[in-house]
Amino acid sequence: MRVAVVGGGVVGLSCAFELSRRGADVVVLERDRVGHGASFGNTGWVCPSFTYPLPGPGIVGEGLRAAFSREGPLAIRPGLDPSYLRWLWAFRRNCNRETWLHGMKAFVELNRPTTEILDAYRDAGVEFEMHDAGLLLVALDPKKVDVYREIFRDLASLGFEGGIREVSGQEARELEPMLSTQTNGGVVARVDRWVHPLSLTEGLAGWLTANGVEVREGVDVRATRSGIIETVQGAVEADATVIAAGISAGPMLRSLGVRVRMVPARGYSVTYPRGGSAGPSRALYLADARVGVSTYEDTVRVAGVFELGARDAAVKAGRLDAMLRTIDPFFTDWRPSEARGGTTWAGIRPLTSDGLPLIGRTPRGQNVFLATGHGMLGVTLAPATASLLAAFVLEGRADPVLDPFDPARRA
Ligand SMILES: Cc1cc2nc3c(=O)[nH]c(=O)nc-3n(C[C@H](O)[C@H](O)[C@H](O)COP(=O)(O)OP(=O)(O)OC[C@H]3O[C@@H](n4cnc5c(N)ncnc54)[C@H](O)[C@@H]3O)c2cc1C
Repeated sequence: MRVAVVGGGVVGLSCAFELSRRGADVVVLERDRVGHGASFGNTGWVCPSFTYPLPGPGIVGEGLRAAFSREGPLAIRPGLDPSYLRWLWAFRRNCNRETWLHGMKAFVELNRPTTEILDAYRDAGVEFEMHDAGLLLVALDPKKVDVYREIFRDLASLGFEGGIREVSGQEARELEPMLSTQTNGGVVARVDRWVHPLSLTEGLAGWLTANGVEVREGVDVRATRSGIIETVQGAVEADATVIAAGISAGPMLRSLGVRVRMVPARGYSVTYPRGGSAGPSRALYLADARVGVSTYEDTVRVAGVFELGARDAAVKAGRLDAMLRTIDPFFTDWRPSEARGGTTWAGIRPLTSDGLPLIGRTPRGQNVFLATGHGMLGVTLAPATASLLAAFVLEGRADPVLDPFDPARRA
């Protein structure tokens, strides 16, 4: 079977890998360069312990308060676009405990094989940077850990065995000596890992090319219909298409008469070169600031901010500087707001109104499949998404684990 995968981000490349390994004749069509969309400058966490749907009880109040802040980590852009307003309304409707638990359960099931699949990538010869020391969550205000305690309790009640362990401030500082004495205790999520995101997408693309898969960059897909993918550069034929175009999937789906409720949420990162006293030695979640830090072989990356409705990937200096200032107090001997030589980046998370990605067959078009809407969790969820979707495309039957992610659901 010939399968075209539209989009060369972490989700599309993982799908291409799984399809190719199962014997499909795969072509990847990427508008720009592989791995240079949302998958580029994120923190690369593969974090089943922090996998939960965004709409939850209490989030609306918090979001509305934050909407009026010019510098806070959360922002809701005002807008009169009817599809944006419909999304906001649906999101609000989904902020309840029942929907939240339904989403948590769906994620626990989806994530069960995640780390195993990543290990299988390595075993198959995909080369990428991965760290498995677990994530360390710390807070300045001890109350900020409470919300995560609740999340971990819910995860455990749903059968998640994540090796989550509470640590005192002293223990946290022993694990990461660069933390300041202002930090209180937190949590170690032992099962979680972090990858260098570009190394993963480049590793997958390298494996694909070495194994005879055509990875075509600079190919802009406009529409897809039965067996034909229309691109600006000419038509491509395939028996099935997987649309993994992140936030840009919408227009392609409209050509099929399919509407998806998805809005952009912009986030930022700064990547500093390592060396000397530049930054901590592991992955950290700084709870009060809602900022993640990932340490790689040569760099340290700090990422955060959630600007709902921001459509372009422009870096707004005011909000980025504010993000960096909020994390200075977490560290001793390192002030990210004053550190030199950092590379700034902004990326767009594709967000559905129930916080669950869209994985499965499109409601119209028997041979068109969808893998997008992974929001804050695309790196974490890509391995399991790809494994289940590849089986669906090639065998024609969906694993029941995919039911909650059906693109035809009322999200
Ligand atoms: C600041 C920040 C930090 C984050 N941290 C994490 C984290 O630690 N862990 C985690 O799991 N997730 C994280 N995320 C979320 C994660 O980055 C995304 O969920 C993920 O990258 C989405 O991957 P994707 O492949 O769906 O999209 P993308 O990476 O955007 O890939 C889509 C691709 O499709 C291509 N495309 C679009 N339109 C067309 C077209 N018409 N024709 C052909 N190609 C097209 C694009 O060029 C792009 O390369 C973070 C996001 C941000 C912004």
